[in-house]
Amino acid sequence: MTLIYKGQNLFLDSTSINSIAKNNQTPFYIYSYKKIRDNFSIFSNYFKKTNPLVCFSVKSNSNISLISELGKLGSGADVVSEGELLKALKAKIRPNKIVFSGIGKTKNELQLAIKKNILLINIESESEAKLINKISKKLKKITSIGIRLNPGVDANTLSKISTGRTDSKFGLPKSNFLKLCRNIEKLKNLRIKAISVHIGSQITSVAPYRKTLNVLYKLIKLSKINFKYIDLGGGFGIPYKKKEKKINLKNYSTLVEKFQKKLNCKVIFEPGRFIVGNAGALISKIVFIKNSGKTKFIILDAGMNDFVRPALYDVKHDIIPVLKSKRKAKGNIEFVGPICESTDTFVKYKNFFSLNENDLVAITNVGAYGSSLSSNYNSRPLVAEILIKSGKTKIIRKRQKISAII
Ligand SMILES: *Cc1c(COP(=O)(O)O)cnc(C)c1O
Repeated sequence: MTLIYKGQNLFLDSTSINSIAKNNQTPFYIYSYKKIRDNFSIFSNYFKKTNPLVCFSVKSNSNISLISELGKLGSGADVVSEGELLKALKAKIRPNKIVFSGIGKTKNELQLAIKKNILLINIESESEAKLINKISKKLKKITSIGIRLNPGVDANTLSKISTGRTDSKFGLPKSNFLKLCRNIEKLKNLRIKAISVHIGSQITSVAPYRKTLNVLYKLIKLSKINFKYIDLGGGFGIPYKKKEKKINLKNYSTLVEKFQKKLNCKVIFEPGRFIVGNAGALISKIVFIKNSGKTKFIILDAGMNDFVRPALYDVKHDIIPVLKSKRKAKGNIEFVGPICESTDTFVKYKNFFSLNENDLVAITNVGAYGSSLSSNYNSRPLVAEILIKSGKTKIIRKRQKISAII
């Protein structure tokens, strides 16, 4: 994470959180441009020899300014809806660097993607291939597609973010993949340019990726199709806590290099979390502190509508004070949100820093699947997003006006 204490005060890079909070209503998201840029270059450097096209997964953070900054660093975009496609285009990502994933793309969404001549539409069913063919024929176009394979690999991650197991809804099953490829090859307004996989998210071990490469290699050889691109998806895990494991991208990159040499193809990656996950924090104010039996509830002005990962996946994000008190308070505390749901709770601690009502805290590592998953639940407005770049503070999304939801 990119948050550090100088004395007792929390800073994001060289900007004090307190100074930002003076001019902005809490809760709000803040991001470090430096961290995003560093993560992007760390990722690219691991795979230097493969020279892949890196398509940032827009669903992990769909702020147009961030997509645009990543575009300037050389990133393409992996999108999953009409809205994300339009955002990527507005962020000036060139269509030939955009791939479109998802199992339920509608006719309208496909039409837009076909008209914009994006690099690949990654199809996930025979019906989708037929629909793209039909639309393309009408528009007198030949559309480049990728075929998403479900490799039948368990990514050993949270079950709710696994996508490559045999029982998963994603991709075409391995068992009749070749037959489906033959059927799709007959469709005249399509060109099969790629095979794609994405086995899940927050993957911290190379083993499932290795298995996937093996499955891919065998199928590609059997298919005798000359795939120009091989889209290996995203899913690269990050440590959310200090002691957590990091994925060994060096080992994986060696496997990918060999794989690419054997097949002589262009590799595409779709990282999301790895690029932005540790580059963002959600700043929140303590509304009330309530003693309830054995637990002291620290009630924040940020709730599960602003940041839903703990409620959705039962994961913990560390919360730290913006002004670190020198005193520790004994006993159990629990950080909770204001929403009328029992799952609106963030994390519990024992013997935490002493805290007071109106103090500020930072929920850490929320750059990915934070803001992009937020909602208006409980009729609460979407919060502001702020980017820190070269010491300057830029509001990259204004807090939604309450009038916009009434
Ligand atoms: C969600 C998703 C990604 C990004 O996953 P991360 O875990 O954020 O890297 C990439 N590709 C596809 C198809 C996805 O659905």
